Amino acid sequence: MQRAQVAWVLFMFVAVLLLRTGPAVVAAFAPQDGYGSVFCNARPVPGQPPLLAIVIDDLTTGAPGLEEMLRLPYPLTFAILPDRPDAGALARRIAALGHEVILHLPMDAGEVDPQWYVGRPISSRQSDEEIQQLVSEWLAAVPEARGMNNHMGTVATQDERVVRAVLEVARRHGKYILDSMTTENTVVPRTAVEMGVPCMQRSLFLDHENGEEVVAAQLYKLAEWAETHGAAIGIGHVGVGREGTAAALAEVLPELEARGIRLVTLSQLLSYQQEN
Ligand SMILES: [Zn+2]
Repeated sequence: MQRAQVAWVLFMFVAVLLLRTGPAVVAAFAPQDGYGSVFCNARPVPGQPPLLAIVIDDLTTGAPGLEEMLRLPYPLTFAILPDRPDAGALARRIAALGHEVILHLPMDAGEVDPQWYVGRPISSRQSDEEIQQLVSEWLAAVPEARGMNNHMGTVATQDERVVRAVLEVARRHGKYILDSMTTENTVVPRTAVEMGVPCMQRSLFLDHENGEEVVAAQLYKLAEWAETHGAAIGIGHVGVGREGTAAALAEVLPELEARGIRLVTLSQLLSYQQEN
């Protein structure tokens, strides 16, 4: 074949492939190697300034590192474990400090210590009605919540029926979803886009390994990602062993701001997307 013919055949092959995979375009934005687009339905617009959202997971009253986090003078987003009697009071306190609050939904992660859920997990064993009842109950206890993300959930976030039941409550109450991306096989982004629920995905975990230096290094990676692509979302934690996370944030965030990066809550990030 002539070179032009080869090029034409290649072109047609790619065109057919793109047409066939059209509805799966969301998958193209799924994080690879820990990174990805922060919005489930579009790439962020590289803009001025680069936007960075930090989400702190696993909040319970008295969690190690919590007070240090709450003292940070930045607009952070705090994910509260909702299936506890004190979740409402904790949410009110954090919202009063000017931070954003979301629900940190315990979701089935298979063969794990049930204590890690810190409450009743959402799972495939429940009916749609039971899942919706649970999420509605938690939202009623934490009305400050602007959205929700998954705590664990490697199994449950792969089950489209379960994910739909959760997202139905989010849609009804006007809440967004942040996919913590605990598994590459999550169906949360695709399902949320289909259902019209505002959806974001975390770019990096800050403290999968503990220690101030590790977290600082992850923050610099996130900053580079935000500068290159317009926005990034990092998830850190409170809890035993995670004390270095707050210290790293206190040290690195002023530096990142001086570098021109703007720290935002998740709802600010969403409004930025909607305006652009
Ligand atoms: Zn969690």
